[in-house]
Amino acid sequence: MNTYDILIMYLVAGLLASVALSVLAIRAKVIRRGAMPQSVMVGTLVTLSGFPSVLLFILFLAYTTLVTRLGKERKVKLGVADDVEGRKANQVVAVGFTPAVMAMASSIMYAVGLTEASGVFLASYVASLAAASADTWASEIGVLSRGRPILFTMPRARVSPGTSGAVTPLGELSSLAGSASVALTYLALTRVFNTSPLWVKFNWGSLNPSIQLVLLIIALGYVGEVMDSVIGALTQPKYYCDRCGVVTEHEVHTCGERTRLIYDPRVKLSNEAVNLLESLIAAVLAIVITLSFSRLLT
Ligand SMILES: [Zn+2]
Repeated sequence: MNTYDILIMYLVAGLLASVALSVLAIRAKVIRRGAMPQSVMVGTLVTLSGFPSVLLFILFLAYTTLVTRLGKERKVKLGVADDVEGRKANQVVAVGFTPAVMAMASSIMYAVGLTEASGVFLASYVASLAAASADTWASEIGVLSRGRPILFTMPRARVSPGTSGAVTPLGELSSLAGSASVALTYLALTRVFNTSPLWVKFNWGSLNPSIQLVLLIIALGYVGEVMDSVIGALTQPKYYCDRCGVVTEHEVHTCGERTRLIYDPRVKLSNEAVNLLESLIAAVLAIVITLSFSRLLT
């Protein structure tokens, strides 16, 4: 069998496995019924980059689902518990598009014999998942914070928990933990399956190369989440509830009061578009940084 036959075999196996896993994900309320085609598409492309990558994706979904369900009662009260019922189709695309494309690029590079380029895209795949994870952990745990959320565009205003772009210290710590959950899981998987994570030869002093890679991924995931907050704060309309005296992103506040528009950005992006941008930024940074330290350019 040549590499192309193997790619086709992976595609078919990936398609079958993705259909089965998507059905399970719908039953477990990880995704909603309408997100099935998008989920199958993402799953199939991720399969191309090999078993550890697929397992990483499944574990990433498991962690983020658990984190989403944390403090459910409080999220229902705050009006931010929507995702507990499962992710919608556009959310699956926002989270899955970048990793799926990077996984596909990695497998194509591998198939044509460019193993180091394949490694660069694989690092980018892991970084985009770390960014998605960092963002989910930051918002799902951060929203439970008793501390005052701060919006950097309106630092003095009282902001409703769950508002796009608003940050809390708990949220930022959770973001780092979310990014680390992906990076460390990937490191563990490469150990268990005895595949080397050292596709790219770093030369940052004497630090163990796998630790260098893990640190890079954690940092990129976190940078992605920070970008998500910045872009979210700048591109999403903000409203003010006069009854509660807080900034919110809803036209009707959870108290039932109609809010008034206080920030109307010229470029408006949905949450999903911001998430997609965030993972793309982490992925592109991963490509640029790993490339510049790899032997490909030296
Ligand atoms: Zn209100």
